[in-house]
Amino acid sequence: MNVPACRAVPAVLLAGTLAGWPAMGAAQGGAGPVGRWSVVIEGLGPAPALGELHLRRAGERCDGTLVLSLEDRPPTPLAACRLDGGDSIFFRYQGESPMEFRGSMKGRAIVGSVQRAGEPQARWTASPLPSQIEFYTSAPRFTLTQLVGGSFGTERRLPGAVVGAARPNGWLEALDAAYADRARRAGVATLEPDVLTQAGASRVLGMSDRAATLQAVEGALVRIRAALSREEQGQFDRVFRAPKRLRTDFYGVALEFARRTSTTLTWTSVLGALQVRVPEGADPELTAVRALHGLWSRSDTSAVAAARATARAASAADGRALDAILDGCASAEAWHRAALTALLTLHWVPGGATPRSPAELVRSAWLAAAPDDSTSVAAVPAILTRRFGGPQAVPRYGVPATLRPRVVRSENWSAGVWLERHGYDGLLEVLHRLDWPVLDGVTLADDGEPIRLTSVPRRAGETLNGFLEPRGAIAVEPAYVPVLALGAVVHEWIHLLVETRRLARLVTDHDGALVLPSADPWLAEGLAEAWSERVLAPAHEAVPLLAVSEAEKRARLARTAPDDPHVLGYLIVRAALAGDGADGTLVRFLDAPDLSAIATDPALAPAWRAGAGAPDLVVPLASRRFLVPETTFTITDNVPDAVRATIRSRD
Ligand SMILES: [Zn+2]
Repeated sequence: MNVPACRAVPAVLLAGTLAGWPAMGAAQGGAGPVGRWSVVIEGLGPAPALGELHLRRAGERCDGTLVLSLEDRPPTPLAACRLDGGDSIFFRYQGESPMEFRGSMKGRAIVGSVQRAGEPQARWTASPLPSQIEFYTSAPRFTLTQLVGGSFGTERRLPGAVVGAARPNGWLEALDAAYADRARRAGVATLEPDVLTQAGASRVLGMSDRAATLQAVEGALVRIRAALSREEQGQFDRVFRAPKRLRTDFYGVALEFARRTSTTLTWTSVLGALQVRVPEGADPELTAVRALHGLWSRSDTSAVAAARATARAASAADGRALDAILDGCASAEAWHRAALTALLTLHWVPGGATPRSPAELVRSAWLAAAPDDSTSVAAVPAILTRRFGGPQAVPRYGVPATLRPRVVRSENWSAGVWLERHGYDGLLEVLHRLDWPVLDGVTLADDGEPIRLTSVPRRAGETLNGFLEPRGAIAVEPAYVPVLALGAVVHEWIHLLVETRRLARLVTDHDGALVLPSADPWLAEGLAEAWSERVLAPAHEAVPLLAVSEAEKRARLARTAPDDPHVLGYLIVRAALAGDGADGTLVRFLDAPDLSAIATDPALAPAWRAGAGAPDLVVPLASRRFLVPETTFTITDNVPDAVRATIRSRD
């Protein structure tokens, strides 16, 4: 349709219909003026008014509804509706400003006159509107509330007693011993401190100690499979069973998939295609995997294109080999997500009446501590692929259900209809395209501390955790060997649960602006580390290899970054749990705003007694406060169109 001077008329194909109405009238041939129509009225004001008309025949009479852009209200039932001679129509609109419509069929359209009391006659035209067309008489209009977030201040002061109690004499040796014990039980080598600090992270990617690591991983998969029901063994096999072996790691699977089209492909031919020579005495498979990871993990399309060109220039066979292995890598990313999901959701952990899944362990542990948060733990979060290069996983934070209406609100009736069709997830997706106003580099001074102005997509792009994501999810490096990454995935899931609870409870309202509470990294990481270890304890008991990577990470960080929240936070939560180990202790950590609150919590005082008198630990932390202005926007074809932005004072 073509309506001059009215830019906000979305007309999007949508696979839904408005229930209860015939799909089409005239357009289906000879039915007269029944069905769904888009209406244009000219002469009621300077710009044409738009309407959506639904008509249904009832003998010589008719009934139906009309929505008009002139009035922000739900569909108004027609009054005195009648059909004269099959193709003429009369009805009264009884909204805020009543009017009478007369019209008759002209081709496939209805044309006629509109009479509003005391005004000159206006003209209306109605065109058939197929049921699958999404149509709004007024563009859906929403307002994003002003959001202030990020960390405050320039340093964090960690209470001395808490740090002292968490790190008594011999704490480093105790972490080493825990790691060595786990490695021994899993039958893998304990890495010596110098190897651990320099190359420790590469083992969980299958890029050092490769053969021994993957053999241990295969052993763990065999144990997991053996504990499954026959039906779930079938599901397991669809993910992990290759013709002659179990699928253990991303690059091994990439080669297997590549061989489906390029049957003679080997690691040696992949090395040739990558133009890499195997150093004297080196393992070709390990060399190839490292070289391939160097290319794949960068997600650099120009580097990949250059490598393909170089391979093709060397020989047609090299070109084909590189294409095949890169296609294999692309397919293996889906395998990696499926593998993690299977490990998380299949029922292989002994200890209950029937075997449980790690997902069930997370659920029951969470509900024991936070019984009122049953919705946030109901679904297993989606696993996303993100090429970090190293063994990394991150939570992507969504918006808790209770917070959603406070973050974006509907401004007109059409907005409510739009939300019914697209859901709040769809609205958050649109919000991620609302890059306006563009205020890069502009800061506000507030109490001498700068607040950076930003937008939702910019904020989402500058943090690995995303911002106001439509759904909570976990992004994982694809080369992170799935069996070795399970602990990290559960760790991130706990981050999602903790953050959802914190946001739902701690967001505050200041004069129409929302202040998002900044997380205390030592609380957040301490909970994720210590709680995931506790949740997975029965899984670790059954398959000791699962416990190695997290213990190895902490032993490594304890040397390279002892104040890092993953290790120091872990030790703090562990020190508190050592007192009674009860869920109540975890809840105190869950609901504390920061570590200072934990230090002064009388219930936890016995836990910190051993650290009494220790000096506070001061850690520099640059201010990263940001502000997203209150923004009103309309939506046309799923694209946001900003109307105005306002910065509200925080005084
Ligand atoms: Zn974490």
